[in-house]
Amino acid sequence: MSDLHNLGVAELAQLLKSKQVSAVEVATRFLARMGGNPHHAFLDIHSEVTLAQAHASDAKLAAGKAGPLEGVPIAHKDVFVTRDFATTAGSKMLSGYRSPFDATVVQKLQSAGMVTLGKLNCDEFAMGSANENSAYGAVTNPWDTTRIPGGSSGGSAAAVAARLTPAATGTDTGGSIRQPASFCGITGIKPTYGRASRYGMIAYASSLDQAGPMARSAEDCALMLSAMCGPDLDRDATSLDVPTENFSAKLGDNLAGLRIGIPKEFFGEGLAADVRTAIDAALKNLEAQGAKLVPITLPRTELAIPVYYIIAPAEASSNLSRFDGVKFGHRAKDYTDLVSMYKKTRAEGFGEEVKRRIMTGAYVLSHGYYDAYYLQAQKIRRMIADDFQRAFAECDVIAGPVAPTVAWKLGNNASDPLADYLADIFTLPASLAGLPGMSVPVGFGEGGMPVGMQLIGNYLQEARLLNVAHQYQLSADFHNAKPEGV
Ligand code: GLN
Repeated sequence: MSDLHNLGVAELAQLLKSKQVSAVEVATRFLARMGGNPHHAFLDIHSEVTLAQAHASDAKLAAGKAGPLEGVPIAHKDVFVTRDFATTAGSKMLSGYRSPFDATVVQKLQSAGMVTLGKLNCDEFAMGSANENSAYGAVTNPWDTTRIPGGSSGGSAAAVAARLTPAATGTDTGGSIRQPASFCGITGIKPTYGRASRYGMIAYASSLDQAGPMARSAEDCALMLSAMCGPDLDRDATSLDVPTENFSAKLGDNLAGLRIGIPKEFFGEGLAADVRTAIDAALKNLEAQGAKLVPITLPRTELAIPVYYIIAPAEASSNLSRFDGVKFGHRAKDYTDLVSMYKKTRAEGFGEEVKRRIMTGAYVLSHGYYDAYYLQAQKIRRMIADDFQRAFAECDVIAGPVAPTVAWKLGNNASDPLADYLADIFTLPASLAGLPGMSVPVGFGEGGMPVGMQLIGNYLQEARLLNVAHQYQLSADFHNAKPEGV
């Protein structure tokens, strides 16, 4: 089957189930495509592990004991710990680190039958918007290799767009699933905070971190999300005690009468004209399907940037204290005493951006500044969440851009970290509120680069988001477009 690599999760699962293709055949195809590591998307590959898993899947398929996604390949962002592959979180600090266990999300996807292709490049400890903060080198965007793929789940997005894998996991703290999905023309969803277990996800900012699927279509994301979510109360204290849902079974409703909130703050001056044009066209499509556009306001949108860039570094400075040369990871070679060992280890092991965040975080938490920064940020975070609740009194979902522009050129913001932070403006609010958000490909802008539309739902409304995206994808084909040469 010559175009096996162009098939999505649902199609592959079907072919595998009906035995038109074997799991080994599918895995072999993707492993071949991964040869030479295109776009520098992968950080670790062990074909023997992948093939052993594929053989096991074929045995289960033959025995009639197959999981719902048996034999379908997936690759994991390198912040999910894995037993069979190294886990580095894109950091030198964890170079060569092997976890003694699999993250809950990894293990759940494996139980559903998915076969692991390897680990995907990302920004160091998931801090970044361009994947340029990986200690192992940048990832290129398959649509234009002079551009960034987005971040921090840049390897995940590039690998799916380049058909190196039909599916990937990502993590989203302030936009890291939605923004790279948007920049690479794929579909991704960050569920409600607490839906997917954080156990085995290397912590960046624990009150914001969420795992989610990145694939080509909403239909594929629904299949994966159904497998990934569910309570994990013993191992993640913030895991939600709500039953696992079958999101795929809820992809039927038409959009008649659906109220789509259009926040005026998402369509202001900062939004590039090419992105706006693509979003407007997608909204027209949804209107033609019976949805109603309702103007709403999210008045504290701009404040999401300072609030997030106080809270996330504060939590990071605490979470990353464990990387000290003793408990985990890299240890400096020449040191005189314990303190010099800590200092040298952390100076050598962490990259620039991670150090910047640890320092910012330590500062905003420090005596004398805590009230002025951290506490204040927490109060505004609550107000941002309240603004969403007021908006959801008037609408069922919120739609807008994922990012103000299409993917920029590699190196563009190299000397200006603030420029990357500012580009997170549309993804941060939903993160701070803990709401589910997704990115759906809706066209192309400047330089032929993909544009993503963001859909934000109220708590636990993933099914609704996925259905809106699915109805859109039934009538538009942008999610099937592929970069030249792929
Ligand atoms: N760009 C944001 C940051 O750098 C979001 C990253 C993420 O969601 N992991 O923190």
